[in-house]
Amino acid sequence: MALIVQKYGGTSVGTPERIQAVADRVIRWVKKGNEVVVVVSAMSGETNKLVALINAVNPQGSAREKDVILATGEQVTIGLLALALESKGQPARSYTGAQAGIVTDDAFTKARIRHIDDTAIRADLKAGRVVVVAGFQGIDEQGSITTLGRGGSDTTGVALAVALKADECQIYTDVDGVYTTDPRIEPKARHIPRLTLEEMLEMASQGSKVLQIRSVEFAYKYDMPIRVLSSFDEHDEGKSTLVTREEDVMEEVLVRGIAFNRDEAQLTISGVPDQPGVAFSILGPIADANIEVDMILQNVSTDKTADFTFTVHKNDYDNARKILAKTGEKLGAAKWEGDTNVAKVSIVGAGMRSHAGVASKMFKTLADEGINIRMISTSEIKVSVVIDEKYLELAVRVLHEAFGLAA
Ligand code: ADP
Ligand code: ASP
Ligand code: MG
Repeated sequence: MALIVQKYGGTSVGTPERIQAVADRVIRWVKKGNEVVVVVSAMSGETNKLVALINAVNPQGSAREKDVILATGEQVTIGLLALALESKGQPARSYTGAQAGIVTDDAFTKARIRHIDDTAIRADLKAGRVVVVAGFQGIDEQGSITTLGRGGSDTTGVALAVALKADECQIYTDVDGVYTTDPRIEPKARHIPRLTLEEMLEMASQGSKVLQIRSVEFAYKYDMPIRVLSSFDEHDEGKSTLVTREEDVMEEVLVRGIAFNRDEAQLTISGVPDQPGVAFSILGPIADANIEVDMILQNVSTDKTADFTFTVHKNDYDNARKILAKTGEKLGAAKWEGDTNVAKVSIVGAGMRSHAGVASKMFKTLADEGINIRMISTSEIKVSVVIDEKYLELAVRVLHEAFGLAA
């Protein structure tokens, strides 16, 4: 008997009919002799509605109270799915994150799972029940409700699979796997049957939202393979993608895929003294405000002053700009400015480790289209550039073509 964790995203539980279809699929897996734990997201659009309600009342309000509201979307779907299973004769029981023993830190709205007490879940499975768990939420040591960041149900799914030592972690969504880039932007995107957890980690961290980055981090750390599949495939016979260990991925390719991210904003401070401690005096106050910095660039000019550029999430932009203005005055900088009309495009592939020339091909491809590169960053298996947001879709398409990824 195998233990399967299945996670269904918002579109997959978006209507009563979709929930019935999920129940049918779960029952098929149970009938094949498996124990099944199901993680569900809120119905599609519901979390956005909750965010809008929060913003209409008190957008600057305390994150603890925001989580009380944000966590409600998933409570609806666990109950509905348990009812649907019951109506089809399958015993099932629903659990909120707290009831499922998912304990997190207290970083409200972006909490991290610390541990899972799976006693109740195991007892239910033993009693022949399907366990339905609310994704995206947990409880901190003080008993406050927490949420795991947007897209966090993926992380609930993988974390439960790890805690329960599941045989498989299945992520059901509205695409039948991971593609060479977002098929909504590039219709020629090609399906990838297998890729490494490390490649998926880079794709997710560079903006491919098909899996939340933290879910891939969990899977990578604990060596839990993830299968991405479509919940719209009613007969379990369509394609899927297995995200797994490097040794299980036969074919090593140069560029596996193109990821992009529209959520970044760029900040620049110019004419600061070129001396030890300057980077710290600029980024220290940013870090103290809990703002994550992605790319960093420093240029030193002949007159012994430096220009310093970095990127943050668009949500943090206003705050970061205010902090930068204070630093600018303190350091006597020549000027400071920001731009939110930027985007990041990345090429990712494990094969880059052993091949030079990938970055220069990327730069030439963009140059041929007249796309200016503002910032560059590289790792062993990726190259990222920041460009003007208006060229993002063009950049994705020409890179997709240039690296031979098109179907
Ligand atoms: P869910 O609600 O099921 O969690 P998401 O919207 O979070 O679904 O993730 C699925 C979406 O991710 C797809 O519809 C697709 O537009 C997008 N996506 C982005 N990059 C990729 C990629 N490389 N491969 C497949 N889908 C991608
Ligand atoms: N409902 C949450 C969101 O929209 C979590 C998820 O769907 O994974 O971000
Ligand atoms: Mg998602």
